[in-house]
Amino acid sequence: MKRRIVFATGNENKMKEIRMILADLGMEIISMKEAGVNEEIVEDGMTFEENAEIKARTVSRVLTNDIVLADDSGLEIDYLDKAPGIYSARFAGEDTSYDIKNRIFLDRLEGVPDEERTARFVCAMAAVFPDGTSCTVRETIEGQIAHEIAGDNGFGYDPIFYVPEYGCTTAQMDPEQKNLLSHRGKALRAMKRILEEKLREESL
Ligand code: IMP
Repeated sequence: MKRRIVFATGNENKMKEIRMILADLGMEIISMKEAGVNEEIVEDGMTFEENAEIKARTVSRVLTNDIVLADDSGLEIDYLDKAPGIYSARFAGEDTSYDIKNRIFLDRLEGVPDEERTARFVCAMAAVFPDGTSCTVRETIEGQIAHEIAGDNGFGYDPIFYVPEYGCTTAQMDPEQKNLLSHRGKALRAMKRILEEKLREESL
């Protein structure tokens, strides 16, 4: 039976990105939903890494023969002591639009000079293997909180996340460009290198 990689997410956009980056591993890559898992995942960790591992372990307990991956990501704004951090999705309420959430942060940083507007997107990715071992990687993309909302691509906080080297927000980048630079793209590629190594060891 072909080994599977199951990703603990219900987000189809993430699955598209994951399938693209992991395609040449030669393994079947499916979402937890496609694997028939509907476990409720309680994200009560205190760090991105803990939350990523909690998600992967929850699914791995059901799918004991598969490699299970999960990620947890968010925005850290230095001027606000790294808020919203692990609470990025829940900030101001899960159902509040990102247009509102983004405007709240622009208001909180009103008048703050560029050098104090530093921020980053963080992505921790965890893998749990059938033998019960696990590993996590963390990657970031550094930037600044913009002075106004700009761009229609991406999602979440992309319209206020300005990348000085590119002179635009991540919402003004095309998806391929964002994947090359982004916290999640980098974490996926780091995880891919770990998986390649693991698969090489297994075939010895
Ligand atoms: P998740 O843990 O990957 O589901 O992401 C948590 C939250 O972090 C998202 O709901 C967004 O608010 C924020 N976030 C994570 N990655 C990005 C990104 O690439 N662009 C914009 N917002 C992001």
